[in-house]
Amino acid sequence: MNTLTHVSQEDTHILHRQLRSGLPLAVGGEGAWLIGADGKRYLDGSGGAAVSCLGHAHPDVLAAMHAQIDRLAYAHTSFFSTEVAEQLADQLVATAPEGMSHVYFVSGGSEAVEAALKMARQYFVEIGQPQRQHFIARRQSYHGNTLGALAVGGNAWRRAQFQPLLIDVTHVAPCYPYRDQAPTETPEQYGQRLVGELSQAIDQLGGENVIAFVAETVGGATAGVLTPVPGYFKAVRELCDRHGILLILDEVMCGMGRTGTLHACEAEGVVPDLLTIAKGLGGGYQPIGAVLAHHRLVDAFRQGSGLFQHGHTYLGHAVACAAALAVQQVIARDGLLDRVQVLGSYLEQRLRAELGQHPHVGDIRGRGLFWGVELVADRDTKQWFDPARKLHAKLKADAMARGILVYPMGGTVDGQAGDHVLLAPPFICSEAE
Ligand code: PLP
Repeated sequence: MNTLTHVSQEDTHILHRQLRSGLPLAVGGEGAWLIGADGKRYLDGSGGAAVSCLGHAHPDVLAAMHAQIDRLAYAHTSFFSTEVAEQLADQLVATAPEGMSHVYFVSGGSEAVEAALKMARQYFVEIGQPQRQHFIARRQSYHGNTLGALAVGGNAWRRAQFQPLLIDVTHVAPCYPYRDQAPTETPEQYGQRLVGELSQAIDQLGGENVIAFVAETVGGATAGVLTPVPGYFKAVRELCDRHGILLILDEVMCGMGRTGTLHACEAEGVVPDLLTIAKGLGGGYQPIGAVLAHHRLVDAFRQGSGLFQHGHTYLGHAVACAAALAVQQVIARDGLLDRVQVLGSYLEQRLRAELGQHPHVGDIRGRGLFWGVELVADRDTKQWFDPARKLHAKLKADAMARGILVYPMGGTVDGQAGDHVLLAPPFICSEAE
């Protein structure tokens, strides 16, 4: 490290994400703001990657973490449970979609997806259907960077070089009306067409061979916030039920209040079999994720082997649970889900008013405090910018120079997705911020 404010590539021993550029040092946080070592303040317009739902340095969360550290920081889950983990599980189950009875704690989103995939597979082994070996997921999706999660994910760029290591997963179209809905179709008809495609994929594999359909309820990090059309998930749920296929909804990014309901699937009127949550669960105060499981699966495990054959050293970490419990209590106490809806409408209104007619803004879409702006070279043809221009990287750097953090993506291979900017500000933002 060669200066107090900035780390350069030549001097760092951290294998950072980018090996050709340096990074400013962050030394503090305050509400919706991050503070650099040079004193520069950054408005956290994306909550990192849709993580910091309560912003930074929330006093109630810090107090809860301090209290837990003073009491007990860590006890291995093969020896003990802890009061705080039990309380957090009680809270999550009390607010979970109906029938979801248990929580499996992990340290983040990819781990949550890995655990959900294994839970789904083991469920069918437990109930005597070991022939079920296939997952179906969607293109332009992201489910994490570990090998199982990467395999179900449909982000072509992230998958490309690891393809030979990935289990074979069938990918169908995501719900992406701006690009895929035909002018002659209503949103509902478009949704039905997508479910028809899923149905064909199931038939090709044989419904009795499929473990689960995996989808982000509201797509996030690959195509810049994809909200489902009305009725899509209900029809998906019915189709899965007809074949005995599990529905795994990944709400690592869109869940825990981000879209204005605690779980995004509430707005779709569906209950999944497994629901993954992470980012907003601990709000960035500690690394924590979880899988919410339907009692049907848990009952099968109980009556079968009596063991979920999985586990990590840090699952249910006491300080992480304390942080998450405090984050969730603050959200409930301060009515922040309502606040997300009010602020979200305001953000939408301002985005549409100020960017809606911009020649390079193709689409503005989202829900709650989760918004994506899709950038195009040409509004009429919806043509993307050349990925080689790395527009998203320039945009990120330019916004940072202006003191704003946004989360842009783009330039993926196979022409699958172009440049997008994702906005996911903390729920505690003011209108002015
Ligand atoms: N699932 C979704 C929907 C995500 O958006 C992400 C991360 O962006 C993940 C899984 C992976 O989470 P993590 O980065 O915590 O491993």
